[in-house]
Formats: sequence, structure tokens, C-alpha cells
Amino acid sequence: MNSALIYTDLDGTLLDHHTYSFDAARSTLAALKKRGIPVIPCTSKTRSETAKLMQALAFDGPMIVENGAAIWVPRDWGLSRPDNAVDDDGAWGHSFGPSRAMIRRQLAILSIEWGNRYQSLCDLSDKQVAAVTGLDLDSAARAKRRQHSETLVWLGTPADRTTFAEQVEALDMRCVEGGRFVHVLASGGKAEAVSWLNHKIRTERPDYADAISISAGDAANDVEMLEVTDLALLVRSPVSEPPKPKRQGGLVISDAMGPAGWAEGIEALIARVEEEEDRGRLLSKRHDHNAA
Ligand SMILES: [Mg+2]
Repeated sequence: MNSALIYTDLDGTLLDHHTYSFDAARSTLAALKKRGIPVIPCTSKTRSETAKLMQALAFDGPMIVENGAAIWVPRDWGLSRPDNAVDDDGAWGHSFGPSRAMIRRQLAILSIEWGNRYQSLCDLSDKQVAAVTGLDLDSAARAKRRQHSETLVWLGTPADRTTFAEQVEALDMRCVEGGRFVHVLASGGKAEAVSWLNHKIRTERPDYADAISISAGDAANDVEMLEVTDLALLVRSPVSEPPKPKRQGGLVISDAMGPAGWAEGIEALIARVEEEEDRGRLLSKRHDHNAA
């Protein structure tokens, strides 16, 4: 039996907002691996970027990418492949919404009014993306390989952004704000993807049937995800005030920022899960004893 499943944002949460380092979380990650607790990225990054990071992190399970617009699961991970999934490189992919081309076609409707206030990340050169994000050139190229969402570099005012988001919603799409960009999706976002995957893992993998779900994030695009898991961790950010999830209890806010805050918060939550487990085991033992 495995006690928990962790769904985590990457930028600003498991990775340092400025340097993208996860050094401060290394020993926690190693301890989780030893206990069979999977860490599943849930990020605005592309599959290509996430796959590369997962190699560095030594993760070999599923990933949720492009703000929840798509999920990739290794074929040998023990989950059934949905009928409409696509296969690539030893994994199947399931998307929750239309392609990026469809989203762009919809956005074109707004471009006359708004076109001078945003720029598509995918239309920038690798060098420009590297300059905006601080990524190296290879990672910048990977960041442009979007398939199910459109990422915008916002050039207008924050107030403009609110009006723009309302107009995007009128077209049956939604804007979510990450640490750096505005992402336009035509699906439910991180919360929908985490709920879908968590349900699938708990029903199809008997070893995770009783696993507690934990999510971790730092920005507005994580709030809904932080509301759908059993427990949640809000990691403090050096660039913004912590957003406010609407949940009652089960939420930890880290003291430290980025990966150090991630390690601190996840350790506290896992300790809580294990305490509950011990109490549950004790109670069921007492119950067996009484029944006998
Ligand atoms: Mg983030």
C-alpha cells in the first residue's frame, strides 16, 4: 500500500523561480522515492520541457502539462489507455480540449482589439524566449512546443488583462495566469486534470486505492488544483503574495520559498498522513480485538 500521491507545480514551487534549481528538495525527493510515493508534475510547461526535467528529477511516472490541457502516462505504469489517446515514445497522451491551432483560430477574433497588447510565446524566437524566461536556448525551444494551449506574453496593463480574460471566456475558453505568462486554454485546467488522473490511479492501481492526494503550487493558476486534493501545500513565492484557495483546512503554507518551502511543506504533510495511518491501523487493530 502506498500512502500518498503528490501532484506538484514546477516553476516557483518545486523549482526555484529564478534559477530553476531543485537542490533544496533533493533529500525530500529521495525519501519519497524510497517510500513509493510518486511525485507527478502538474505544470504550465510543455511535454518536451517536462520530460527533460523529469529525467533530471529521476521521475518515471505520469505528467500533467500545459496547465492541465494534456496528460502523458508511461504505457507500463499500469493505467488503461483511453480510446481517444495518442501514442508516442512509450507513453499515451490524453488531452482535455482542442488543439492549439483551434485555440489560435478563436483568439484571432480578439486580435484586432488586443493584438498589440500580447505576443504568442510560440511566435518568438528561441533567443527571445530565453531572454523573457531566463531559460537556456534548448529549454526555450522546448517551451514553444505547445499542443493544447496558447501562452501569451502580456504587454498591456493588469487591468487590460482582466477585460481580455472576460472576452476569452465569452469565446468558451479561459485564461490562467502562471508566474510569468497568461495561458489560454479551452479545457478545465490543472484541477480537472488532477481529479481525472487521481481518480484513474485510485481505481486502476490497487496499491494506491487508499492513497491520500496532495497538491503543491505557488500561483493563481494552482488555486483550483489546491482545492481538489485531500491536502494541499501553498509554496511562498519571491515575486507575489500567496493566492487564497477557498478550502477549509488541510492547507499548509510554507515559510521558505520555492524548493526549500516545497520540502518543508511536503515533509509536514507526509508526517500528517503517516500519523493518520498509524492511528487508523491502531483503531482497526482495536476493532479486530473487540470483534474477537
Ligand atoms: Mg508556479
